[in-house]
Amino acid sequence: MKTLIRNAVVVTMNEQNDVIDNASVVIDGTRLSYIGPVEWTPPGPFERTIEAGRMIAMPGMVNAHCHSPANLVRGMMPSKPLEIWRAYYRASLRDMRDEDFYASALLGGMEMLKAGATAVLDHFFGNQACPFMGAGAAILAMRDLGLRHVVALTLSDKNYEETIPLGESASNLSDEVKRMSASEAKATQAWLDECEAFIDTFHHPEKLTVCCPGPSAVQRCTDELLTGAAELAQKKNLPIHVHLAETKAQAVMGKQLYGTSLLQHLASIGVLRPNLSLAHSIWIEPADIELFAQSGTTPVHNPASNLRIGSGLAPVKQFLSAGVNVALGTDGSASNDGQNMFDALRLAALIHNQAGTDFNQWVTPVQALSMATRNGARAFGLDAGVLAPGMLADLVLLRRDTPAFTPLNDVMGQLVFCENGSSVDTVIVNGEVVVEGGRPTKVNEDEVLRLAAQARTRLDPSIQRELTAAQTMEPALAEMYFRVFGGK
Ligand SMILES: [Zn+2]
Repeated sequence: MKTLIRNAVVVTMNEQNDVIDNASVVIDGTRLSYIGPVEWTPPGPFERTIEAGRMIAMPGMVNAHCHSPANLVRGMMPSKPLEIWRAYYRASLRDMRDEDFYASALLGGMEMLKAGATAVLDHFFGNQACPFMGAGAAILAMRDLGLRHVVALTLSDKNYEETIPLGESASNLSDEVKRMSASEAKATQAWLDECEAFIDTFHHPEKLTVCCPGPSAVQRCTDELLTGAAELAQKKNLPIHVHLAETKAQAVMGKQLYGTSLLQHLASIGVLRPNLSLAHSIWIEPADIELFAQSGTTPVHNPASNLRIGSGLAPVKQFLSAGVNVALGTDGSASNDGQNMFDALRLAALIHNQAGTDFNQWVTPVQALSMATRNGARAFGLDAGVLAPGMLADLVLLRRDTPAFTPLNDVMGQLVFCENGSSVDTVIVNGEVVVEGGRPTKVNEDEVLRLAAQARTRLDPSIQRELTAAQTMEPALAEMYFRVFGGK
């Protein structure tokens, strides 16, 4: 099937960052075959023509880090430091079943598509009582939506309480933390076997699914698990995704465990590589920036989540100055509270402009858009994030007759600073129209909302019970937090 999109303003995000006025885009099957001036458009016939004279075309955004089970608890988690927040978030997952994981991924995926993301990395942790923790249900939801997805199965083979710098407060920890730990950790080889079986079962790029290993975080895994996961990814030519240095407590733990930064430890065991992406990468050392640049490893910036739970500010300007491939994500809805990549884009372009710093290094619209598009695609090995012949046909058409783009002064600046997703009209993934007129085409929007609300209602007694139980963990974790930062 051949599709012609005619007369759009095309933001290509190619190497030259070309913006082409009055351009055509031709889609041939699942790939782009032409982007350029209307007058040079190759002859048809075209099965479908989209008149885009009042539209802007851009590559679909790549949401490079999220957790799909979190969509049912948006807006309700306390704004507290990650270690405390995490106790509550994990408690909310404890009784989720496949149908809940499906409903949650459907809700978040629909939100992403409607706001111009065409691919997502789902760092999946669910419920160990379900096959593959429920990841199969999330995959089904994203296929039903027509959203391209990379699902990194979360692995951890250490007890949680041994991976945070509790010190004296360890003895004050309730039985609750042990119960939480027991529901998460698994033996090293069992995880590696499960991850390989998961990949063998669900990895089907032609069905929009890429599967890969997702070790939870460096300090949460033995070296055997980290290197085993990296070898598995290498063997199957897949990416690998890990949380890195999201909080100061994690960096402190890294020093205790390894005597180096968490990233230097990954380097020492041979895990750094271009297909490795590291969510957050906040509490790193100056020398780590060069390690990122040399190895081609991608840090994933999640500005909303980092602000919501006070994790800190990633050194994005330093990354960009050093030529590091920074990608952008929303993180889960338990720490962001939505899945809108335009929010992430705007925050990424705003929060690094701090008084007294070198304004020549502040994040530009082109840099922010690169993080949101081609950099994420590159980290996951997807031929996407750029509008160029041969690339996957994953793109977004935005209406120009909206306040965000009126008058049209600087299309890149307006995509970053003015747009919030409400101008998105048409979204195409793998050559298929999955959002048209701002509405999803493959699912019924009202039904998605109904399923999500119904799942949340069904889970409510368990969520209330587990959140109350999780409160007993807070004093010891709070003590640790204040100690790490040198007192109240
Ligand atoms: Zn995360």
